[in-house]
Amino acid sequence: MTILILEWSNPLNKSCAIHFSCVSQLFIFCSVMLHLSQDVEALRGELCRKDEECREQERRLAALEQQVQERTGVIVQLQQQLEEAAQRRQELQLLRDGEETLSRQAALPLQVKYVTKTVEVESAQSKQALIEAQAHNQALQEQLSVQRQLLRELEQQLHESQRSSSQLRQQILVYEGEMERAQGQLEAEMQSLEEEKNRVIEEAFIRAESEMKAVHENLAGVRMNLLTLQPALRTLTCDYNCLKRQVQDFPYMLEKAITEAKQEICQVIGEVSSANQELLRKYKREMNLRKKCHNELVRLKGNIRVLCRVRPVCAGETDAADTKNKVTFDPDDDAVLYLSNKGKLMTFELDKVFPTQATQEEVFQEVQSLVTSCIDGFNVCIFAYGQTGSGKTYTMEGVPEDPGINQRALRLLFSAVSEKKPDWDYKITVSMVEIYNETLRNLLGDNPNEKLDIKMCPDGSGQLYVPGLTEFTVESVEDINKVFDLGHMNRATACTNLNEHSSRSHALLIVTVAGFNSSTGHRTSGKLNLVDLAGSERITKSGAEGSRLREAQCINKSLSALGDVINALRSKHSHVPFRNSRLTYLLQDSLSGDSKTLMMVQVSPLESNVSESVCSLKFAQRVRSVEIGPSSSSRRQAESSSTSSSPTHDGVELDSPPVTPVPLPISRASSASSALSSTSKTPTTRRRSHSQLSTGRTKLMA
Ligand code: ADP
Ligand code: MG
Repeated sequence: MTILILEWSNPLNKSCAIHFSCVSQLFIFCSVMLHLSQDVEALRGELCRKDEECREQERRLAALEQQVQERTGVIVQLQQQLEEAAQRRQELQLLRDGEETLSRQAALPLQVKYVTKTVEVESAQSKQALIEAQAHNQALQEQLSVQRQLLRELEQQLHESQRSSSQLRQQILVYEGEMERAQGQLEAEMQSLEEEKNRVIEEAFIRAESEMKAVHENLAGVRMNLLTLQPALRTLTCDYNCLKRQVQDFPYMLEKAITEAKQEICQVIGEVSSANQELLRKYKREMNLRKKCHNELVRLKGNIRVLCRVRPVCAGETDAADTKNKVTFDPDDDAVLYLSNKGKLMTFELDKVFPTQATQEEVFQEVQSLVTSCIDGFNVCIFAYGQTGSGKTYTMEGVPEDPGINQRALRLLFSAVSEKKPDWDYKITVSMVEIYNETLRNLLGDNPNEKLDIKMCPDGSGQLYVPGLTEFTVESVEDINKVFDLGHMNRATACTNLNEHSSRSHALLIVTVAGFNSSTGHRTSGKLNLVDLAGSERITKSGAEGSRLREAQCINKSLSALGDVINALRSKHSHVPFRNSRLTYLLQDSLSGDSKTLMMVQVSPLESNVSESVCSLKFAQRVRSVEIGPSSSSRRQAESSSTSSSPTHDGVELDSPPVTPVPLPISRASSASSALSSTSKTPTTRRRSHSQLSTGRTKLMA
């Protein structure tokens, strides 16, 4: 399929290259044309502007002509006025002539007097005529004075007219001069504009011509290219036809290729799935091998490992008698501990001895392989054994700033299960139980005073369960802390003095790790029991009475039962007396079969505690290297017979067994569910969520 595509792509590439050069030349041509048209456009704009300027000059010229016409009209009017004034002057001249005639006539009075006298003498008619003539003369005199007045005014007007006329004439001359100048300027401007226009047009023409030339040249180039392109076009057409044919054939070829690819994919899927199967098989085999190796390792170390931790001398324990260090260590062997007792140096050999300076982390490192083995479905028990004040609670719980095994174990489980994701999905649940005076108390329940019982599963499986035992699913350190806080609070509410009470009761933290592998369908269920045992000190010598004696008897009974069970397991006895105490009965499935047990024997370094330390270390040595693991059937048989040995705590007699012996099933570590975890599957089990946890605590606080 790939080769086919390459064949198609070659002619396409060639034709595309030719086409591209042609297009690029066309593009150059277009850009030159565009440039030219822009220039022409600019020239056109300039021409328009010049035309506009010309029109403006013409308008100004017209306005000036208009003014000239108006002024010519004024001149004509003035000339008319001048003519009128001249006419009046003539009239005045006439009047003056008349006047002169009159004054000449007046200059001849004697003649007239004579005439008058003659008339007077001669006739009344003449007198009348004289009177009339005198009146007429009077009127004429008046007329004359009026005419003289008029004349004076006219003369004045004439003078003014003459003055204004001369002024107007001067103005006309000025205007004419201006007009001539303006016209001259206009003409010069028009001339220059015309020249400019011609120059610009010429320039544009020259430029356009040169550009046109370039365009022509380009065009010639393009034509040339087109000519050369023609063969390429022909090959392209040829290629196109070829491609067309191939495209027509393509569906058929595609179908063929798809069918082939499908076949190949099916084949590959088949191969992959078989490889997967093989891998899965190998994985399972490796897992089993790992489990076996781990088992073997633990077996080599002993299914029951006994460690010893010596706590440091605390501040406040500085009594002269007590400060002498009675416990010493072998610098070359970390499994040996020396105890100086009544002048004798006793040697104890254990699996490992932690000196006083050992940190919580160092202690945890020694137990962490046990913790992780419960992820693989093993049941594990870690006990802290020792007299009160020897550091059991410190080792198991620790202090907030330096937590002990309990919190570290859960943290390790969280990180270990998260590493196994997504193949494995794990659920971690915790319960907290206290065993006081052989009664079981649910420390995470709503009612801490409620007593729990250990019962057989009603489903006939023969497994044990604790009805009503509260379990919390935990997923984070915060969840653990909430659970621990609730457990402590519930433990404290049930007693008056927590310190005393806690030293006389066993505290159990039961962690169940249930896993499911979605790819293989495998399920595992492991249980980790972290037990802070009650103080192992003997009390016969203290002469306790009443309730204190009862407490001591119960503690001794359970610790002896624990010793008996471990001893019986070690010696492969046919009978293992699990039911001799609530503690061993509850932990039955975690002590038998493939289970792993670790006993942390706590020792106080003080001189006053030496005899108790000796007891604890003797107990430790007795339980050490006990083999767990006779066959289930033999153990089931062993369970039906009942003999008990009590290797320790001879100071107090044992009570009779708390329950009637019944055959108990041995739960295999790899089985889907253990006796205790089965409680969660019964309807009577009370599970609470994290939110309920906080509600429970609030209630308790209230
Ligand atoms: P137990 O639980 O056996 O009665 P505790 O754990 O209460 O004893 O320890 C008694 C005291 O000794 C406590 O104050 C505790 O803090 C202190 N202690 C015990 N072990 C250590 C240790 N390894 N390092 C420091 N202090 C310790
Ligand atoms: Mg304690």
